[in-house]
Amino acid sequence: MFSMENNRSSDDQKIYVTRPFLPPLEEFMPFLRQIWDSKSLTNFGPFHRQLEERLCEYLGVEYISLLNNGTNALIVALKALDVSGEVITTPYSFAATTHALAWCNIKPVFVDIDPCTLNLDPSKLEEVITPQTSAILPVHCYGNPCDVDSIQAIADAFNLKVIYDAAHAFGVKCHCGSLLNHGDLSVLSFHATKVFNTFEGGAIISRDSKTKERIDLLTNFGFDHEDNVVASGTNAKLNEFQAALGLLQLDYIDQVLSRRAEIDARYREAIHEIAGLTCISKRHQEVANYSYFPILVEDDYPLSRNDLCLRLKNDGIIARKYFFPLISQYPVYRDLPSASDSRLTVSAEAASRVLCLPIYPELTSSDQARVIRLLCY
Ligand SMILES: *Cc1c(COP(=O)(O)O)cnc(C)c1O
Repeated sequence: MFSMENNRSSDDQKIYVTRPFLPPLEEFMPFLRQIWDSKSLTNFGPFHRQLEERLCEYLGVEYISLLNNGTNALIVALKALDVSGEVITTPYSFAATTHALAWCNIKPVFVDIDPCTLNLDPSKLEEVITPQTSAILPVHCYGNPCDVDSIQAIADAFNLKVIYDAAHAFGVKCHCGSLLNHGDLSVLSFHATKVFNTFEGGAIISRDSKTKERIDLLTNFGFDHEDNVVASGTNAKLNEFQAALGLLQLDYIDQVLSRRAEIDARYREAIHEIAGLTCISKRHQEVANYSYFPILVEDDYPLSRNDLCLRLKNDGIIARKYFFPLISQYPVYRDLPSASDSRLTVSAEAASRVLCLPIYPELTSSDQARVIRLLCY
């Protein structure tokens, strides 16, 4: 079997928060040969269609559309549902979540998160709904499921769309099967840093064939057939090179996830013994993807979060403060009425305490032990 533990060269002793997984290059060569021979490079080619089929099967979803990245997938998802006005979202995420709203001329309305899951707190939704509100854009942060039932209940009561930013949630299953089947649409990212990558890539999961058709058309300039354009679409197509890589990556996904699970378990066991450091517990997950390993640095830990981050960095370990600062604290968004820290206290607290530790399939046991030793006091 292909070994997940590689030998890092001696001139690169750094341990990063994540490293992209790639299958053996030899195994990609036949795919490249086929692309070169067929000259089918893009535009919903054979690998694109095969990857859609395999992903539907693997993820347990009915309709998927592949796009060139997760950010464009968020934008196309918003366009496909004609979302406008105001959208309620979380400040505790990667910038792209809110940027997608801004690119659609939608006003983001930030709402605080739940302290246990670090996901949008459904009990805070109702108070910010206005006649302009048209949708909710929550994030399954670190792959931990949002409270999908409460969010849907509010969406139904106020006739709002729900689009999940599921960029962290590839393959996650909850009590009723794929987490990606909740809401109107779910959006994935296949960026190099994610659990499943196609270098760059993304996808939208939809619930019916009409919506999938609309998404595919918007992804391809709005063409509904050869000589008719019915919407002002964009170009957000996944190409055949990326789709072929995705097919090969799927052959390795179970190995990737089981290695991640081992690393996750080892961290949890070690951190349980360290006063002042807490892990985010895994709730409502039948199948997790171990996409990140966030810890919270509490007041009774001898170092502040920033000092712990520096201590690791001085030893060549590049942990990351995901998500600090909050999206609502960026200069582009901080003047919004909903962006004030006083409304977002749980988010601000999490952002000041969180540190994501290295987790990726090729992280060796000895490197992980090095990380753990530095956490101990
Ligand atoms: C990675 C990420 C995105 C953006 O995906 P890209 O494929 O990099 O464009 C969006 N939202 C979240 C939460 C992400 O982590």
